[in-house]
Amino acid sequence: MALYGGIEAGGAKFVCAVGTGPADIRAEARFPTTTPAETIGRAIAFFEAHGKLSAIGVGSFGPLDPNPDSPTFGHITTTPKPGWAYTDFLGALRAAYDVPIGFDTDVNAAALGEHRWGAAQGLDTFIYLTIGTGIGGGAMVEGKLLHGMMHPEMGHIRIPHDREQDPFEGICPFHGDCLEGLASGPAMESRWGARAEDLPEGHPAWELEAVYLAYALVNYITILAPQRIILGGGVMKQEHLFPLARAKTRELLNNYLQLPEILEETDNFIVPPGLGLRAGVLGAIALAHRA
Ligand code: ZN
Repeated sequence: MALYGGIEAGGAKFVCAVGTGPADIRAEARFPTTTPAETIGRAIAFFEAHGKLSAIGVGSFGPLDPNPDSPTFGHITTTPKPGWAYTDFLGALRAAYDVPIGFDTDVNAAALGEHRWGAAQGLDTFIYLTIGTGIGGGAMVEGKLLHGMMHPEMGHIRIPHDREQDPFEGICPFHGDCLEGLASGPAMESRWGARAEDLPEGHPAWELEAVYLAYALVNYITILAPQRIILGGGVMKQEHLFPLARAKTRELLNNYLQLPEILEETDNFIVPPGLGLRAGVLGAIALAHRA
């Protein structure tokens, strides 16, 4: 029976797994993201210790080149992460493995995993967002993962920023107060002086976070008409943020879209990942299946 390897390559840590799906993960490992040679080397050593793989899937932080026709397919491109810019990630794996390898963004991989096994089963157009160390979004549109000229960078959209209500400048090194600059985990920590996970329910941080997420969701809803929006990542572990974000999204849409998904079934429209904290690495295994 075919066995697959998955790598969820994050800017802070790698999660690797060997198995065939959510009910069959044979081994799992996580380790910090250090240099490309050391970190990719650890992933390969982990795979080698756990059986013969039929295919590998990689869901990676980016920006990256996901276009199989491009000469730099499988490379990380312009990341500010030290040592990783222009890393040939796929090439390093191919040097060790002569098996099909799927390669995409961490969020597109998670979207694929949610489609196969999680909260997006049976849908053909939906979004997977992660709100954590950074903010990123993957999308499936009419059954295909969305790439376009590269891949979406949904975390870097501009949203209204009322500087009287929130004088915080934002932390995106490129844009200051883009969505990621205002609403990622590190942005919350920088604004409030405490880690997001330590801010109690009822703290004004959460109301503000819900407003920023809702502005973003309204943009994605009006542009892509997703059938569902899945919100994952460390910040969304705060379950009380879901009802706040749903209510603000409805409020901002202001009855413009007369759809049951938005008016009556919001709890089923803006949802946590069906695969929970394993959405990323299971998404990578889904990429391996597809490869
Ligand atoms: Zn930005």
